[in-house]
Amino acid sequence: MADLSSLRISHRFSQLPAAFYSHVQPQPLDNTQWIAWNGSFATEFGLPAQPPTDALKHWLAGEVTTERFNPLAMKYAGHQFGVYNPDLGDGRGLLLAELTNNQGEVFDLHLKGAGLTPYSRMGDGRAVLRSTIREYLCSEAMAGLGIATTRSLGMLSSDTPVFREKQESGALLLRMAQTHIRFGHFEHFFYTNQLAELRLLADKVIEWYWPECQNAEQPYLAMFESIVEATAKMIADWQAVGFCHGVMNTDNMSILGQTFDYGPFAFLDDYDPHYICNHSDYQGRYRFDQQPRIALWNLSALAHSLSPLIDKSLLEQGLAQYEVKLGRFFSFNMRAKLGLQTKQQGDSELFQSLFDLLQQNQTDYTRFMRQLSMLDGGERAQQAVLDLCVDRESASSWLNRYMQRCELEPTSATERCAAMRLVNPKYILRNYLAQLAIDKAEQGDFSQVHTLVTILSQPYQEQPEHSAYANLPPDWGKSMEISCSS
Ligand code: AMP
Ligand code: MG
Repeated sequence: MADLSSLRISHRFSQLPAAFYSHVQPQPLDNTQWIAWNGSFATEFGLPAQPPTDALKHWLAGEVTTERFNPLAMKYAGHQFGVYNPDLGDGRGLLLAELTNNQGEVFDLHLKGAGLTPYSRMGDGRAVLRSTIREYLCSEAMAGLGIATTRSLGMLSSDTPVFREKQESGALLLRMAQTHIRFGHFEHFFYTNQLAELRLLADKVIEWYWPECQNAEQPYLAMFESIVEATAKMIADWQAVGFCHGVMNTDNMSILGQTFDYGPFAFLDDYDPHYICNHSDYQGRYRFDQQPRIALWNLSALAHSLSPLIDKSLLEQGLAQYEVKLGRFFSFNMRAKLGLQTKQQGDSELFQSLFDLLQQNQTDYTRFMRQLSMLDGGERAQQAVLDLCVDRESASSWLNRYMQRCELEPTSATERCAAMRLVNPKYILRNYLAQLAIDKAEQGDFSQVHTLVTILSQPYQEQPEHSAYANLPPDWGKSMEISCSS
């Protein structure tokens, strides 16, 4: 394929006024090689199933320009660790093209690591290999788990040196998402008092992503409520699976409630609500159990930026829906994880006592939940659950309570456990697994990256040939803190 004729390319964002972006050209990296190519995803867009090696590769990697693409760096702002920063924007990424898939959905194709832009500030516009691998793996792991996320189309290694704490090599991520519009886009226009642009942004967000809001009595309010709901769903999914984002700044919050901008993220190993995965998060602002509250804080910041468009009391009502929705989504998730189809009094206490038990016993969250999904295996299966806790007495008393609760269900143990295995993953992207794959990749061996992509794309399947990847982390790899430098 040496032309772009099989792609449906649009230019919605570049048709917006100049205040929204700067035109930029990608700055090619040296000697790029595909490390990964998401063939099944690619074919949805009319792209080849195999990594392209011809002219298409050079266009997609930003090495050769084509008039069919119109690359631009988006301008946005945002609150970083609670402090407003007006100077953000795509500092090392750019929107290369908008591609339509076979469902008629438009996705942004974003190149991360493509060089300097007017928003690069002190940065070099590059992304290193290790952080590119982490983002590729985690976005595909989240997609496999069924959690809303940006996607990865492919990634390229290069010989371009990039300097962080030491010399590393630059890489390029081809990231896809229905939008790259963040809460911080609205904040930028609000704080610079560009109210016509603020309104236009809201109009476009409604037109492109929430068209049903056009028929609402108050379309802007309906848009805000949609963002609130999507965010609540995402957070409920994170908390139920044990995902810690690490940098929930408002510029890393997608207006579609998709997990966005993977940096120092982590999945919980031992159940520890106080876990802080980001090495630079000294105050624990983004620690695991703070995420629901921080999402509300971020939504409040968004609401404030929308105040020229929506009456304050209505915004407050919209915001108030967050906790209600979050509570509903989270209970739904936990009920499913415990195989409960009915709602009964005392369910919330059952969930909380489970979390308390796991925290007190420093029990691996994913392993425990998966083991609970095996209780159709008789007495030995019960023993295997108890074996995951040091304090057998508390574990046994919780398990009895749970088994009694299961008796109120219309389903058999076999049915219950089969359903539970579809929502309690056997495989998650533990940080130590990512680290081992990166260590090999830095030696030029990408086999572990590929193996992880395969395993994590179907995390609920048993995959007995890969069961070592469901093992508990070694001591060095437990509850790792990841540096923000990427
Ligand atoms: P992040 O912490 O990755 O969410 O990035 C925060 C801001 O810094 C965004 O505006 C990024 O585009 C920018 N940024 C991060 N890393 C770099 C880099 N190496 N070069 C230029 N800009 C960067
Ligand atoms: Mg960011």
